[in-house]
Amino acid sequence: MSQLRHRNAVSPLRRDTPDRAALPTVDDLVAVERPDVPMHCLRPAVLAATARDFVTAFPGNVLYAVKCNPEPAVLRALWEGGVRHFDCASANEISLVRQMFPDASIHFMHPVKSRRAIREAYGRHEVRDFVLDGADELEKILTETGHAGDLGLFVRLALPPGDAAIDLSGKFGAEANDAVALLRAARPSAARLGVSFHVGSQCLDPVAYRHAMELAGRIIRAAGVEVEIIDVGGGFPVSYPDIEPPPLGAFLAEIEAAFDALELPAGVRLWCEPGRALVAAGGSVVVQVQMRRGAMLYVNDGVYGSLSDAGALGFRFPARAIRPGVETSQDLAPFSFYGPTCDSADIMRGPFLLPADIAEGDWIELSQLGAYGACLRTAFNGFDRAIIAEVRNHPVVRMADRSAA
Ligand SMILES: *Cc1c(COP(=O)(O)O)cnc(C)c1O
Repeated sequence: MSQLRHRNAVSPLRRDTPDRAALPTVDDLVAVERPDVPMHCLRPAVLAATARDFVTAFPGNVLYAVKCNPEPAVLRALWEGGVRHFDCASANEISLVRQMFPDASIHFMHPVKSRRAIREAYGRHEVRDFVLDGADELEKILTETGHAGDLGLFVRLALPPGDAAIDLSGKFGAEANDAVALLRAARPSAARLGVSFHVGSQCLDPVAYRHAMELAGRIIRAAGVEVEIIDVGGGFPVSYPDIEPPPLGAFLAEIEAAFDALELPAGVRLWCEPGRALVAAGGSVVVQVQMRRGAMLYVNDGVYGSLSDAGALGFRFPARAIRPGVETSQDLAPFSFYGPTCDSADIMRGPFLLPADIAEGDWIELSQLGAYGACLRTAFNGFDRAIIAEVRNHPVVRMADRSAA
């Protein structure tokens, strides 16, 4: 089937635009292909619509955090939804985005970069914005760009751990005093100066952004320099079966109110770097049951594949059974999964609610996996085969404020 291709670690670029209305459904594909390797299903229409909603709602530039899902079809759908800025963390991400979108604005937002990556980003890919959280990195950026006069320099702030599923301040971010010194040190070399932070991924508390913004305000005042940009990072949450976060509007309201309260000079701009919120609903993974033992299902994908967050983090992705042409039981029962590798850590406890008669050979679609799913796959134990397809299905769980609509 033309919609299918086997995927390896890096997917080839495809330049043709598929006709979305003609895309198959997930069930169509399972019935025809009967895939015995994980099948990654992308929903380009969902990705584009989610991006459009976010870009419209956010009062500033929206930088997509590419690490979350660098699949070219995903990037293309986000572009179609109006995303023009990309938060990249590596030379590979930068060259991928530049290759696909010559006009994109690319921002190098990893606080610790190799010298070569800095040189290539600036010299070859027209990247001008660089984040830093220490004086050493400032020196690297200035040296490797030849003390360019057109740099955007962003000081990443450390935040105390907050109410997010995944803390992202453990290894990056300057403490307040250091951040003050860095802002002063960077100012003379910066065509534009910014502060950035990340409240942690899947942050459930809108107030976390206000607290971070207040900290940014104190640091900017203490530094006594002008900044042009406040970048509130990512962290915007999505729904999972047991988690219904506040709507995006509640987060944006806190951000705007806190931004106004800083009373910064006119012209200071807001940026953000969402990953999960833009792409989670746009992807799912279809796995096959290879053995059932009671309430344990041995499936063909796991924590070393695209289900990493279902392992240690215990995320419960929405699950539904697919058994082409044959009814499944109406009774639902809780199941846990074992992944295909030999490691006993390859377990996903869920529980996932599935038909009580689920059996070997059945397929299961796990949704909300467009973010931090396929991109985390490894080849451990030789389980690196997967198929990717674009489908026309709707999301199973929408972003919080969209489900209310
Ligand atoms: C991972 C990351 C993001 C995206 O985070 P989400 O929680 O997926 O929105 C944004 N910015 C930086 C610097 C990151 O490391």
